[in-house]
Amino acid sequence: MATKTFDAVVIGAGVGGYPAAIRLAQLGKKVALVEKETLGGVCLNWGCIPSKALIAAANLVDEIKGAAERGIMVGEPKVDVAKLREFKNGVVKKLTSGVGLLEKGNGVEVVKGTATFVSPTAIDVEQNGERTRIEAQAFIVATGGRPVEIPGFKFDGKDVWSAKEAVDLPEVPNRLVCIGGGIIGMELGTVYAKLGSQVTFLEALPNILTGIDPEAVRLVQKNLRQRGVTVHVNAKAKGFERKGAALAVKVEVEGKETTIECDKILVAVGFRPSPEGLGLEKIGVKVGPKGIEVDAQYRTSVPSVFAIGDVTGGPFLAHKASKEGEIAAEVIAGMKSARDWVAMPGGIFTDPEIGTVGLSEEEARAQGHDPITGKFAFGALGRAIAIHHTEGFVKVVADRASKLILGVTAVGPEAADLIAEATLALEMGAYLEDVALTIHAHPTLPEAFMEACKTALGEPIHMLKPPERKKKGEEPAPARA
Ligand SMILES: Cc1cc2nc3c(=O)[nH]c(=O)nc-3n(C[C@H](O)[C@H](O)[C@H](O)COP(=O)(O)OP(=O)(O)OC[C@H]3O[C@@H](n4cnc5c(N)ncnc54)[C@H](O)[C@@H]3O)c2cc1C
Repeated sequence: MATKTFDAVVIGAGVGGYPAAIRLAQLGKKVALVEKETLGGVCLNWGCIPSKALIAAANLVDEIKGAAERGIMVGEPKVDVAKLREFKNGVVKKLTSGVGLLEKGNGVEVVKGTATFVSPTAIDVEQNGERTRIEAQAFIVATGGRPVEIPGFKFDGKDVWSAKEAVDLPEVPNRLVCIGGGIIGMELGTVYAKLGSQVTFLEALPNILTGIDPEAVRLVQKNLRQRGVTVHVNAKAKGFERKGAALAVKVEVEGKETTIECDKILVAVGFRPSPEGLGLEKIGVKVGPKGIEVDAQYRTSVPSVFAIGDVTGGPFLAHKASKEGEIAAEVIAGMKSARDWVAMPGGIFTDPEIGTVGLSEEEARAQGHDPITGKFAFGALGRAIAIHHTEGFVKVVADRASKLILGVTAVGPEAADLIAEATLALEMGAYLEDVALTIHAHPTLPEAFMEACKTALGEPIHMLKPPERKKKGEEPAPARA
């Protein structure tokens, strides 16, 4: 068996692993990146990127349908599913081959195959029956996670889809039951609804998008209702059976048994770490119920082995995995890096879109703050009116005494992009005044964040002060020209 030696080896070329390998190489290390499938992992191959390509295409269908309101007369749009899939595959290919070029350009050796630990400083990589031993003083495990399965709904890629099949867009079923009203379920279910499926969501909890500002969730729910999507909460899916050409899903909604007929079932009830098969138990790496256990420098219970990204537990976010990978690489290279961020942003690409960072009002209160909030509606913002997307708002939460910004929720057009400025504000320890005094280009959507901060300070310009508005739900006025 051939043996190779490196300074450091990264196992898994997802958005956690591939940046870690680049960072290690930048810091002068001789690095190998081991991947059993395609470079880019879940995010690039069947997660973030392809799902966003489909979401953008589905939104375009919506825009075309609504174009007549703006005097643009086009017929009813038709979707060529095969062509859309081809476009999506092209997007994936472009990015995954880009990863290969980046690794090569940085001098990282990409090794194809499945890695298993044989000692704390060596792995075997197996591909097509051939084994290579790779030795190194440090390893970063970045093997990611996989969708959670539930009893009665075994993923078969035919009747029962996981996110992986749903993102592959095998077809647009007439009727789709989507089990799980979390972020991935909501995003993908909405795509299919926009492409023409009759979608029914089954969520076991009392709300969809648990953990997100209820005011923002209400807007998503309203949008789904308006497009004829059914959402059942407190709904436990029990199993399904074939009924002719259809599938009959057995479900208990609010305690009552019922059956929902459909053509395909998408199960998106969560993600879980997948540390299995790596031989971690043999070398003494501790794995808890939430995944591989790590400290603030991403070191496992074995000093030569680090772990990052989804394999260490949630939140299952691409940018979190990337950041962790860079930190682990720096620690291996002798730097004093550690997990020390103030703010972990999140983008939810529903309709409307949601961006979150920092604490919600309730979380701020629970952490002992006396919070104040400022909210600015897109309905009063020139840019939002001009692009015909006025639904939503930016809400800022700050500490009443100090005016330190604690959190921001944006819901509406480009909300996930908008949250970048709020993330920087939190990371820099900005106060409401800092954002309120910053000139924002006009007309742009981020002006809503500036206006929300002014509102929290009691000095709104493009909105009347909240106490002066008597009727609840009244449109803010006047709109900025
Ligand atoms: C549909 C969907 C949409 C998503 N959208 C977003 C989004 O919009 N924003 C966001 O932040 N996050 C999103 N996510 C989550 C995001 O994809 C993950 O958080 C991210 O991929 C985690 O990266 P990772 O590097 O930890 O693991 P992964 O991307 O899972 O990569 C792990 C890699 O390790 C490889 N591997 C595993 N075992 C071995 C082994 N023994 N040997 C060699 N290689 C191995 C795997 O083949 C894989 O390529 C989405 C996920 C899904 C499913």
